Amino acid sequence: MSDVRNVIIIGSGPAGYTAALYTARASLKPLVFEGSVTAGGALMNTTEVENFPGFSEGILGPDLMDQMRAQAERFGAELVADDVSAVDFSGEIKTVTDSEGTVHRARTVIVSTGSQHRKLGLPQEDELSGRGVSYCATCDGFFFREQDIVVVGGGDTAMEEATFLSRFAKTVTIVHRRDTLRASKAMQERAFADPKINFAWNSEVAEIHDKDGKLASLTLRDTTTGETSALAATGLFVAIGHDPRTELFEGVLEFDDEGYLVVDSPSTRTKVPGVFAAGDVVDHTYRQAITAAGTGCSAALDAERYLAALA
Ligand code: FAD
Repeated sequence: MSDVRNVIIIGSGPAGYTAALYTARASLKPLVFEGSVTAGGALMNTTEVENFPGFSEGILGPDLMDQMRAQAERFGAELVADDVSAVDFSGEIKTVTDSEGTVHRARTVIVSTGSQHRKLGLPQEDELSGRGVSYCATCDGFFFREQDIVVVGGGDTAMEEATFLSRFAKTVTIVHRRDTLRASKAMQERAFADPKINFAWNSEVAEIHDKDGKLASLTLRDTTTGETSALAATGLFVAIGHDPRTELFEGVLEFDDEGYLVVDSPSTRTKVPGVFAAGDVVDHTYRQAITAAGTGCSAALDAERYLAALA
């Protein structure tokens, strides 16, 4: 059995690395489980990040995450590229089991496992991600000025993304499987009133096509007749939801209706004393690198204060 650590952090996106930086600088020697496949988190899958403060010329997602990682390591964070396979938060000392079955013990745990955007599941979708295909209008809208854009989805997020994108785009076409929207009335009305927004009802994206490695057009399929049609578009925003990575915490931590972890906001405290949660695993509203980093900082400070009170 390992020694009891002060802090274990699960997840290595902006939230996890920021929590690691702060707890390391507080001499708490955090142990960070980065994940075996996606160490560095969601930004490892993107190209240019133009909205993280401090980088006036923008920075590549993987470079930003390398910087965060190095900064946490510089102050003594111990980083392990492994997955956590089980947790036990029932006692004052929490346990976290890695993929080899080794049990690690800690007085506090910070959960920052992020969330996964849902994909359409089309061939070429991953290849064209960052090359016309996007999952975040706030992040990427600016790159699509005066272009023809498609938004897939029928909920509030899709309407919000479409109305946001219409500021930049030449046209926005909302592709929705049904002939009515799930979005709230107010969001629907805003989209209907926007002269740049069109609707492709009873439609789904069947194929995406590139030209020189960038998205150039889509094939739409009518969900009632099965007929297909071509649509030229250089931007495709997929807004069909996110799945917070919470499987490990089933029956252990509290979830909200959409499956996100519940914290005693504005703190990062979960209902289990000594367990804190930060970043996109908690957040279905903002979902940005800077907000994830911000709550990662809060979780570190909450953990520090919890440990000080134990002493
Ligand atoms: P994540 O970055 O998702 O990191 C979660 C980490 O937890 C991962 O490393 C994962 O491996 C790890 N993990 C999960 N389960 C386990 C486990 N069991 N054991 C160990 N580790 C585990 N935001 C911006 O502000 N600007 C942008 O330009 C921007 N562009 C984006 C482009 C793309 C393609 C995507 C997908 C997102 C983009 N975002 C952008 C959003 C931003 O990436 C997220 O808001 C942010 O990364 C969330 O940080 P996080 O730390 O909460 O989680």
